[in-house]
Amino acid sequence: MARIALDAPLSEALGSKSAFLGRLEKLGITTVRDLLWHFPVRYEDFSKIYKINDLEPGQEATICGVVDDINTKRAWRRGMAITEALITDDTGSIRAVWFNQPYIANAMGVGKTANLSGKISRSREGEPYFSNPAYEIAHDGAEPKHTARLVPVYPETKGLTSRGLRFIIQKIFEASPPLVEWIPKDILARERLPELSRAIRAIHFPDTIDRALAAKKRFAFEELFLLQLHNVNQKLKRAERTAPRVAADIEKIKAMLAALPFALTQSQKRSLWEIMQDMEKTRPMNRLLQGDVGSGKTVVAALAAVIAAENGIQTAFMAPTEILARQHFETMKKICATIAARTQPVIGLMTGSGAVIFYENDVEAKISKKDLGKKIADGGVAIVFGTHALIEKSVSFKKLGLAVVDEQHRFGVRQRAALQAASKTKNGIVPHLLSMSATPIPRTLMLTVFGDLDCSLITELPAGRHPIETKIVGLRERAGAYDFIRRQIKEGRQAFVICPRVEPTDAENAAAAASRRMRISVHSKTAGGFGMFEAADRRALQDVKSVKEEYEKLSKKIFPGLRVAFLHGRMKPKEKEAAMQNFKDGKTDILVATSVVEVGVDIPNASIMMIEGANRFGLAQLYQFRGRVGRGAHRSYCFLMADAGSAAAGARAKAIVSAKNGFELAEADLRLRGPGEFFGVAQSGFSDAAMEAVRNPLLVKQSREAAADILKKDPYLLRAPLLKEKFAAFEASIHWE
Ligand code: ADP
Ligand code: MG
Repeated sequence: MARIALDAPLSEALGSKSAFLGRLEKLGITTVRDLLWHFPVRYEDFSKIYKINDLEPGQEATICGVVDDINTKRAWRRGMAITEALITDDTGSIRAVWFNQPYIANAMGVGKTANLSGKISRSREGEPYFSNPAYEIAHDGAEPKHTARLVPVYPETKGLTSRGLRFIIQKIFEASPPLVEWIPKDILARERLPELSRAIRAIHFPDTIDRALAAKKRFAFEELFLLQLHNVNQKLKRAERTAPRVAADIEKIKAMLAALPFALTQSQKRSLWEIMQDMEKTRPMNRLLQGDVGSGKTVVAALAAVIAAENGIQTAFMAPTEILARQHFETMKKICATIAARTQPVIGLMTGSGAVIFYENDVEAKISKKDLGKKIADGGVAIVFGTHALIEKSVSFKKLGLAVVDEQHRFGVRQRAALQAASKTKNGIVPHLLSMSATPIPRTLMLTVFGDLDCSLITELPAGRHPIETKIVGLRERAGAYDFIRRQIKEGRQAFVICPRVEPTDAENAAAAASRRMRISVHSKTAGGFGMFEAADRRALQDVKSVKEEYEKLSKKIFPGLRVAFLHGRMKPKEKEAAMQNFKDGKTDILVATSVVEVGVDIPNASIMMIEGANRFGLAQLYQFRGRVGRGAHRSYCFLMADAGSAAAGARAKAIVSAKNGFELAEADLRLRGPGEFFGVAQSGFSDAAMEAVRNPLLVKQSREAAADILKKDPYLLRAPLLKEKFAAFEASIHWE
């Protein structure tokens, strides 16, 4: 085959009629590059050749022998073909059996020398034999592909096994051009990583497992390295930009704090101080304010916004949902009412559903979107609350100087990049950026995905809060839990019941399950796996509690005398807000909801959080749910209702019960589920390799240092043109995908 370009479509390399094309496409492989970058998930070690006499049942082994006999029979069961062979080496003979692969008899042939690799089974008579072994005819001088070596096992698809993939990958690898290294040599040397073309060879055709692992590490490193270059570069670029200076008048701030109905905690004060110090500079702030749910982040951000307003600078205060945007608006109203009238900023709320409110001198008024937009544009509103549409839909500000983004952790690298790009104002001035997150982010993730941020931590809860009692509730304890809720409500409290989905099993769920099954079957090697998972999925789906069903059950059967309401994401924004408002106002006792209440909603009177199907949520999510209660002075409880879950789900529930703090939980979540799950639905923008790597703090650290080091010496990468090119492509993918 002639040399073929990396970006060439596989139809060119394999011929447009190849039956493999469609199957490869199912794996997302359409070009030569895609195929070479289709990495094994693991290796089977068949590198040692055993003597037939030494084989033991139960062992995995490779032998080399001569085919003494081979033939195929039809079995009694209709359609089943059984191929049997007898292989002999200089120590003895062994039988091999294959099911439904009649072509093997032709491929092997009596008298040929063959390698067999696989598991040794024990026959009814107690004799060892090979069952469905990998086989390969030994040709003079040819390297074995499937046996007698470390054999890569790939993500597979229907009609394309690892065996097939090995064939195609070797063929294409031999025809591909030399791969050009783009990581500078000194970095490779320092990190002891193999150079690109060696790494590609080693990952597909390793001599030793160490070489395969070194190759894997290289590919993980390169991705982290690009990400870190992005982070470091972002930080450097930000430092060159200008943001409006916000002068902090200490006396005024003190007076403001004194007027608040409570004293700030130590870490709230420290965080506010760090924020003020950043905003006093004309270099734009990019800070993350991290703290447990209820630790009082909103107040800190709101104070920063008020101080900005005193300097004639506008703030855009953004939340992921309308309910939250409204809540922040309400919090700000309260703060406005307590601080001195002279400093009271004019605030507005603008949401997609058209809820537009304007607040000035303790008077609240409805206003049209257009009119509020005009006021924002001429500087008549100091602080505007809303969802991210505020920035994305280009509301234009007269002098936007601070952008506050709540629950930033829900956004992946790409969304964050988009946010930063969008928040540039016309005259090239960028606002200070303050992100808030209640999800404790593990250090490794902090340094990768959020690596361009400075960080302030709120480490303590306001005084007088009780820890929340958390309990895993088994099937038999359910009735007791309901009784407990009844008693709490009698005492005047309220309860949340969270369900994993809105409706009972429906077409959409079936589709989701089907796609999950696909993914599982890709990774499961056993033929029986498919049917097994299918049944498990069906069962699991029937078990998943839905808001609608639970609402019916609780309102009619369990708590007929109580006021039960529901809330989910498919309701109209107006209905959602009404449901939330009623709960807030104490007009309902029990709110049955989906994860829409996940973030930030503040109901101090709620004392019970019951989570159905707790095993379906990530730790970060459970942690958020739990934080919905215990926000007032009342002792609060969290019930984790497990349905027939997996072992991992059990481990998660235990982690949340036993974890001492949020960081511990976050580390556990990362360990148990990986960063993709950690972020929930939002794309983390990572490949599998990088996902693994993020769990490796040392590699994260090395990649970060390497990135900082090279940008310090060569900020525009002029001496590393290939890296520069690669990095530009990476940046483009972050911005446009
Ligand atoms: P977060 O956004 O971190 O989840 P909030 O800022 O919404 O937390 O605060 C939760 C509740 O605690 C709010 O009702 C707020 O008014 C109150 N709060 C904030 N800081 C303090 C404090 N230092 N002392 C007492 N209550 C506080
Ligand atoms: Mg909050």
